[in-house]
Amino acid sequence: MDRQQEFVLRTLEERDIRFVRLWFTDVIGTLKSVAIAPAELEGAFGEGIGFDGSAIEGLSRVSESDMLLQPEPSTFQVLPWRTSDEHQGTARIFCDILTPDGQPARSDPRFVLKRALDKAAQAGYTFYTHPEIEFYLFKGPLERGQTPEPVDYVGYFDNHPGSTTTDFRRTAISTLESMGISVEFSHHEGGPGQNEIDLRYADALTTADNIMTFRTVLKEVARDQGVYASFMPKPLAGEPGSGMHTHLSLFDGDANAFYEAGAEYQLSRTGRQFIAGILRHAAEITAVTNQFVNSYKRLWAGGEAPSYICWGHNNRSALVRVPMYKPSKGQSVRIEYRALDSAANPYLAFALLLSAGLKGIEEGYDLPDGAEDDVWSLTDAERRSMGIEPLPQSLEHAISVMEKSELVAETLGEGVFDYFLRNKRQEWADYRAQVTPFELQRYLPLL
Ligand code: GLN
Ligand code: MG
Ligand code: MG
Ligand code: MG
Repeated sequence: MDRQQEFVLRTLEERDIRFVRLWFTDVIGTLKSVAIAPAELEGAFGEGIGFDGSAIEGLSRVSESDMLLQPEPSTFQVLPWRTSDEHQGTARIFCDILTPDGQPARSDPRFVLKRALDKAAQAGYTFYTHPEIEFYLFKGPLERGQTPEPVDYVGYFDNHPGSTTTDFRRTAISTLESMGISVEFSHHEGGPGQNEIDLRYADALTTADNIMTFRTVLKEVARDQGVYASFMPKPLAGEPGSGMHTHLSLFDGDANAFYEAGAEYQLSRTGRQFIAGILRHAAEITAVTNQFVNSYKRLWAGGEAPSYICWGHNNRSALVRVPMYKPSKGQSVRIEYRALDSAANPYLAFALLLSAGLKGIEEGYDLPDGAEDDVWSLTDAERRSMGIEPLPQSLEHAISVMEKSELVAETLGEGVFDYFLRNKRQEWADYRAQVTPFELQRYLPLL
């Protein structure tokens, strides 16, 4: 047993932990949890703990349904919301999924990301990310199928002392920090009841785990406060959607590989090629970065969500933005990918962004000119003459582009690729069969 494992087992005793929740994520990005007694954990570190994988989205076929969970000790955390003086504590630990013969399960999203990170490591790079997570707070309890009611009607950066959202952010951030997740920035966002919390940068695997924890923490804190936290990409028509702009950088040892003193925006050749890779493959990865029917209502209805494939410096209409550079902070040079939404599976999305960027470096792609204009206000003809293509406009469109992508098939691996496409085709078919309130309102009085 290694030191980290020993530390976890000691903490279980010292903190009087009664349940250990084993956490993992399905292909669509839903957090899964199975609780074990603390006495079982030592064995789980060794051989893993068996479970029936056939009931989990995309994990295994019925004929090979026995799978193992193997906890990763560095991710052990006591859960602040299930621990009090009267109750024994609960802890969580992220797990890798293994097949019965101890191999990584190819359909484990965490493994998909690890494999992509290994590939980057072979080229000498570590991949860092930090997300800006937007979400809405609605009055509870939520009624299924009804338009939700925001908890307030204030807007971007508004200071609203004593409001539900101010108190909510405060409690959410303290809870996250008590679990070792550092928060850099938080504020009210543009929509009514909409908020943003930005996490500090970390290696991409840690960030993806942190995003999964973040979603759970926010739901728990909201429930405690009698409100509902939603990461749905576009919950309210006519109001901004919830994006998860993510900042990306590559490090080569201690040096930021995107930084070059004196270059335009201090952005190195490697950085430019990485952006070129992301732009060239952006349409192919959109079904994953924006995975729901609803995601496209965010991308195509304004509210500062990107719709066109281009990059720019401090240009908020661009898909990729090179943020303002602070001269004192060469190491902080990074790029921001703005299409991702708050409901994406972060493991798969990060794996694809990394692979697309690395492809740009491997193949030495040229970066097209940056867009300095507000690309939303240009005409189609103007955008075409500048070589600016649109992102996919619906889930169906995104799937049909992804289907043909070698990069996505290779990065996700065959099992995840096939399962994902099947799942999303079904979602589109279910959606297509609906008669919506829009149609009833628009057509029934006329036709
Ligand atoms: N909510 C916008 C989006 O969906 C972003 C708004 C902002 O952060 N400036 O991407
Ligand atoms: Mg922001
Ligand atoms: Mg924002
Ligand atoms: Mg941003």
